[in-house]
Amino acid sequence: MKDYILVVGGAGYIGAHVNKFLHLNGFNTVVFDNLSRGYREFVKWGEFFEGDLLEEERLRSCFRKYRIGAVMHFSAFALVEESVLDPEKYYHNNVIGTLKLLEVMRAFGVRYFIFSSTCATYGLPEKIPISEDHPQRPINPYGRTKLIIEEILKDYDRAYGLKHINLRYFNAAGADPDGEIGELHQPETHLIPLVLYAALGRRPEVKIYGTDYPTQDGTCIRDYIHVLDLADAHLKALRYLLREERSDSFNLGNGYGHSVREVIEAAKKVTRREFKVVPSERREGDPPILISSSQKATEILEWKPRYEAIEGIIETAWNWYLKNLSRL
Ligand code: UDP
Repeated sequence: MKDYILVVGGAGYIGAHVNKFLHLNGFNTVVFDNLSRGYREFVKWGEFFEGDLLEEERLRSCFRKYRIGAVMHFSAFALVEESVLDPEKYYHNNVIGTLKLLEVMRAFGVRYFIFSSTCATYGLPEKIPISEDHPQRPINPYGRTKLIIEEILKDYDRAYGLKHINLRYFNAAGADPDGEIGELHQPETHLIPLVLYAALGRRPEVKIYGTDYPTQDGTCIRDYIHVLDLADAHLKALRYLLREERSDSFNLGNGYGHSVREVIEAAKKVTRREFKVVPSERREGDPPILISSSQKATEILEWKPRYEAIEGIIETAWNWYLKNLSRL
């Protein structure tokens, strides 16, 4: 594709890795980001256009400046607990922001859209592993904002021919193995970064949120998927969309789960450091087990994660933190 791919939210963790990956695969990209949760220095590839989705005029200028062929949309608030405490912030940013983006895409005749959705749209799993036809009943506002967009996209496809793919991520983890970009959130709430901060002595301890879940060791089980495998899935989804002109949804996970305690043990092995671990209360809104079936993405997109072992995933994150100690 000669036209630009617009990477909305490309200064954030997942968007920045996808932007680099697209660039390495010969695509022209423009990152559109308001830098509220992203970092300018993560955008080392392609063009950068600073702006907020809620400022429609900025978005229009970006579309006027670059000939956009397709849009990938990563820009969203994505913390479950925060969404419970401040739902308005989530509906405003995630839903209204995306509506504006879709409106401008329509005005400029852009018909291809890759949407960062989430396993949080499924809510409490009725069956493990979770496949794409599992009922979608989110249990928190974050998941609801993503499901609302998925529903809107169906209507826009029917009415306006907007071809889209919803990529429902499980737990994104790891960092660029070249060490150029990594995971940096303010505030940090995710398990693997917090465990590694404790290993580095930047945090006094790691809290385990809940040790009485109905799992083998009592702690929550998640499906951790390397950010580069996510990037590869985005590229495959884009190619599929351009070739087939058919909207669809895919789960992106490794297909197996690790408990919080297993992640902590794996991190101790990778870092060869000890740190304090403190069993604590459950965190609101956490389902006990989330594991993806990635069969559909494997069959249709021919996507297969390359980082399967949790130690290998943690190692890429660890190497990036070791190189960026001054930023932590
Ligand atoms: N978790 C934990 N301690 C922490 C952070 C997270 O025990 O300091 C648990 C959390 O309850 C969940 C899992 O680790 O079961 C993954 O949480 P994370 O925030 O990384 O991702 P989420 O699953 O919420 O998207």
